[in-house]
Amino acid sequence: MSGQITPVPQIAGNAVLLDELGQMKQKAHLPHALLLHGPEGCGRKLIAEWFAMLVLCEETGPAPCGRCRSCRLIRSRAHPDVTLAEHSGKRGGYSVETVRRIRADAAILPNNGDMRIFMFCDADGMSVQAQNALLKSVEEPPAHACFVFTALTPGVLLPTLLSRMTAKAVFPVTRSECIEALTQRGYASDDIQAAASRFGGNIGRCITYLEDEAVRTATDRTAAVTEALADQNEYELLRLLTAAAADKEQLRKTLELLDIQIRDAALLTLNGDFPFMGCDRSSAERLSARLTPRRTSRLHGAIAETFADLDGNVGAVLAVTALCAALLDA
Ligand SMILES: [Zn+2]
Repeated sequence: MSGQITPVPQIAGNAVLLDELGQMKQKAHLPHALLLHGPEGCGRKLIAEWFAMLVLCEETGPAPCGRCRSCRLIRSRAHPDVTLAEHSGKRGGYSVETVRRIRADAAILPNNGDMRIFMFCDADGMSVQAQNALLKSVEEPPAHACFVFTALTPGVLLPTLLSRMTAKAVFPVTRSECIEALTQRGYASDDIQAAASRFGGNIGRCITYLEDEAVRTATDRTAAVTEALADQNEYELLRLLTAAAADKEQLRKTLELLDIQIRDAALLTLNGDFPFMGCDRSSAERLSARLTPRRTSRLHGAIAETFADLDGNVGAVLAVTALCAALLDA
């Protein structure tokens, strides 16, 4: 569905960021460590790839050319000087072994160009030990080494590590930019509207919604669950959660999304400006009308308890029956 791979990653929005990075190259002031942070699905990895191409591009322009040997090798994931650090463990972190191997590699001169690039995508789960193991390389990097990280927020990294990096925020795009990007990828107009109504300007989450049937089912169900909860409709709430319970993975996805809906509803009571993370704004708004901090905490607690039940092998149907009662009593 996503069609042919373009010579340069197509990045919607974020023009200021791309321009800044391009200027850094023009002034020969590229950072030795870059952190791209922002919500999941807003293009952090795509921009990291674009940046790697920018650093190693054989042309001198403020954006990767997409045509030179270096650009083409990166785009086809085959550049010998670009290393994607491998995740390990349950939390998707990086083992100290992996970090040590990368430190050793960073000391070796590049094969092709002037730089070697090491990418740590989704560094959120990176342990303190792994970060400490990397610290020295980032503090005093060899002239030819560049480290690129992506994460949800800068706060997931140790201050000592963070202070050696250039941190840049990546933002979701506007709804119309999102619709345009999805149209370019060849999705049907009805599907695009459905996805954009769920995830607004978050292109990555829209694509997952369009491509992954299980995510789509969980997302649409979560919107209905939020609605039922806002109405205190016991029958409907139990019906929806029991349907989700037929598949434990589906139930987990639904509960994760519901927790985010509750977070959005709680933030709505504060009247501030904040990015929506949930999948249905209108039901979150309705839920927020009845929300107090105490109730938010109880709702969140009820969901956390259900996760514990599922991990402890309590039957899914039994777990959601208890959850339903706890959500309505919260
Ligand atoms: Zn190039």
